[in-house]
Amino acid sequence: MSNTNTSPGQQASGKAGEIIGLFQRYVVPSYGRFELVFERGEGAWLWDVNGRRYLDLGAGIAVCALGHAHPELADALAQQARKLIHISNLYYHELQGRLAQQLVERIGPGKVFFANSGAEANEGLYKLARKFGHEEGRFEILTAINSFHGRTLAGIAATGQDKVKKGFSPMVTGFRHIPFNDLEAARSAISPATVAILIEGIQGEGGITPAKPEYLLGLRRLCDEKKLLLLMDGVQCGHYRSGRFQSFQRILEGVPGAEGFLPDGVSMAKSLAGGFPMGAFWVRQPYADLLGPGTHATTFGGTPLACAAALKVLEIIERDNLADNARQTGAFIKEGLQNLAARHPHVIQSVRGLGFMLGFELGPKEKIPGLAASDKTASAQMVDLLHKAGLLTIPSGSQVVRLLPPLNLTKEQAAEGLRLIEKVVQSVA
Ligand SMILES: *Cc1c(COP(=O)(O)O)cnc(C)c1O
Repeated sequence: MSNTNTSPGQQASGKAGEIIGLFQRYVVPSYGRFELVFERGEGAWLWDVNGRRYLDLGAGIAVCALGHAHPELADALAQQARKLIHISNLYYHELQGRLAQQLVERIGPGKVFFANSGAEANEGLYKLARKFGHEEGRFEILTAINSFHGRTLAGIAATGQDKVKKGFSPMVTGFRHIPFNDLEAARSAISPATVAILIEGIQGEGGITPAKPEYLLGLRRLCDEKKLLLLMDGVQCGHYRSGRFQSFQRILEGVPGAEGFLPDGVSMAKSLAGGFPMGAFWVRQPYADLLGPGTHATTFGGTPLACAAALKVLEIIERDNLADNARQTGAFIKEGLQNLAARHPHVIQSVRGLGFMLGFELGPKEKIPGLAASDKTASAQMVDLLHKAGLLTIPSGSQVVRLLPPLNLTKEQAAEGLRLIEKVVQSVA
């Protein structure tokens, strides 16, 4: 987000103003932050420093899978902290092994490497691909236009959006972008140097665009034919957000010929430890030992504390049937948005996504009376207005507003969110 979201005449005062002042003086200004200062949370609710309550349908951009301050997650962290916070990867500990087993059981035969963020998880996939192609001199990874893969140097080279690259050239070599959901474009982009194709199952920053089932199956066949790795960035769309553990499992549900579909690598982060920083990548069995001793490492990867959090998150998602909740309550929200779009088609042009990864696309702002006057993007203005109404959502590009609620959002909370969106949509229509 590069826009500053300060509304003129609405300068924060008191405690909020003081805290924002600290940021202005001491924090690198790389984020265009909204003028909201939060103090505490409980489930899908957040309170700012003035005691105002907000319904959080962003969940830290798909991070807080169990909402805020989940008591069992807090207890798991506190108990583990008293036992062992960190142990070097020079040694073994039980929780990393147990968590790797849990992730393998949910994706397929293979192994897992633990990191600390999404960008770093993807970085591991790039290194895996380079190692895979090294002896034949192949190194090039194809990624999709409008993709997002993180903000490290390789991450911005992999990301198919110019805005993240601007000012940081020269780019890390070995990445080229292809149109998403276009199998023929992928086929014709392959060069003798190509070693892998990396896509998101549902593009997040790119405006909530799911991969088509035939695209996934086609890429699998293409990669087998050309000896390429098929890599999937599940950082945002993974961890049950779609209603299944990985979004490709949901997208391919009941699709003929999809039985046994697996990518060769999957990256994870965001929801993995419910807000405690953690990333990981899974690599499919035949390639699981490619990164041998000494080839890849990170100090903090898979600490007992992070693994205890991630294990607790998985346990609660399973016990409380939160995947089904994402699917059903997500469908309820989607239907509500579609009804709203039918009533105000010039405001909401389309509704996209699966489960609890939803987006609504706004029409051209010139055609929306309440948004036409400002030079801010339609999505930034809509998100601002929703904040004023007490609802947190996330812009995705200039036209799309994203909903990434905690997986334990209730039907009543979903209905409340829809009511607030309807109120704001009516006010600008
Ligand atoms: C957020 C995100 C990343 C980057 O994750 P960080 O933890 O911010 O490094 C990578 N890929 C996708 C799809 C994301 O949504």
